[in-house]
Amino acid sequence: MTATLPADTHTHTALCRHAGGVPLDYARAAAARGIKEIACTEHIPFPNDPAPAIRMTADEFPRYLELVREAQQAGLCEVLLGIEADYQRDLIGEHIPRLLAAADFDLVLGSIHTGPFWDLGPNDPNATPEFVAQMNRTYYQRMKEMAQTGLYDICAHFDLVKRAGIHAPTALLAEIVPPALDAVAATGMAIEINTSGFRHRAGEAYPSLTILGWMKERDIPIVFGSDAHNPDDVGQHFEPAVALARAAGYTHYAAFRKRRFTLRPF
Ligand SMILES: [Zn+2]
Ligand SMILES: [Zn+2]
Repeated sequence: MTATLPADTHTHTALCRHAGGVPLDYARAAAARGIKEIACTEHIPFPNDPAPAIRMTADEFPRYLELVREAQQAGLCEVLLGIEADYQRDLIGEHIPRLLAAADFDLVLGSIHTGPFWDLGPNDPNATPEFVAQMNRTYYQRMKEMAQTGLYDICAHFDLVKRAGIHAPTALLAEIVPPALDAVAATGMAIEINTSGFRHRAGEAYPSLTILGWMKERDIPIVFGSDAHNPDDVGQHFEPAVALARAAGYTHYAAFRKRRFTLRPF
């Protein structure tokens, strides 16, 4: 890997119970790969969730801040304080705004993890064309809603709906994705090129080159994220992601500090 790899703005820690390592381990892995900047983006705690399987508890939140500070002070690479604030309608009124005010975040990822797309298997008999169309329509409608809340800085894994490797026809996407992108552009958010899609059955980055082209037409800024759940994942598949961004016409990515960004060449 070269020293010119962009910042990795999406990493997890053992606090979410489905990842390994602490921020310091991720910073060390980044430094070893010539990545000069990472963001820690643990999943937000949910309210009234005493025994969560896939996220830290509210009680663990101060510990998260402490672990990020420890990685920042080690001076191995720039370490940003971020959070992955899952979009759910019942959380946006009070819970997420309160949490986002509780720390001095550099960036806030917005993401959608709930929906039938999550549980589909390969060649799933449920995945009829009608089902896939409806699943995609609902997903992008929610993505539009998420952007319109104005709570987030970056859309994470924008087309995660293809996670199981079931890709909607381009003609359908051309109808349902642009309204979501218009909402993102109107809010001034960035969209992440998330390389975890290469590890999933999707078999490609989130989002696809087609969607990246529509983003570029709207001048939507990009960031790069590995969604690392293990220190070894930091910066994984960034070379093809950079090539993809260039193919869509991108030359810069958004570098965040205190929830504002400047454009940095890659
Ligand atoms: Zn996510
Ligand atoms: Zn994530």
